[in-house]
Amino acid sequence: MRTREINSFKTLLLEQRSELLNRMVAFRTETLVPVGERGDEGDRATSELDLSRAVRDQERASALLPKIDRALQRLSDGSYGLCEVCEEPIGIARLKARPVATLCIACKEEQEQTEKIFA
Ligand SMILES: [Zn+2]
Repeated sequence: MRTREINSFKTLLLEQRSELLNRMVAFRTETLVPVGERGDEGDRATSELDLSRAVRDQERASALLPKIDRALQRLSDGSYGLCEVCEEPIGIARLKARPVATLCIACKEEQEQTEKIFA
């Protein structure tokens, strides 16, 4: 991978990371307001819906954060963009769509097949 590409993925990942951290902080400060302080019944119903959406969002964010950290680590040690299983390049197009990808498409499909069999 060229230095220019490495730098652009690094920027992309750092942006995603700070956006995630902002959302996680916002979740703690804005979403976790005690229900009693949320106003009347109508507002409360909406808030509960928003809350469950926010919780799902939060769960996704906390699962993604370590993946971003790992991708940044791989960028600095030079293994970024190589499949963790077959060590072939993952491909720029795939990485642009999913910068935290650690498997090439072939290995990813194989992993999904295996998960289906053992699910
Ligand atoms: Zn592979």
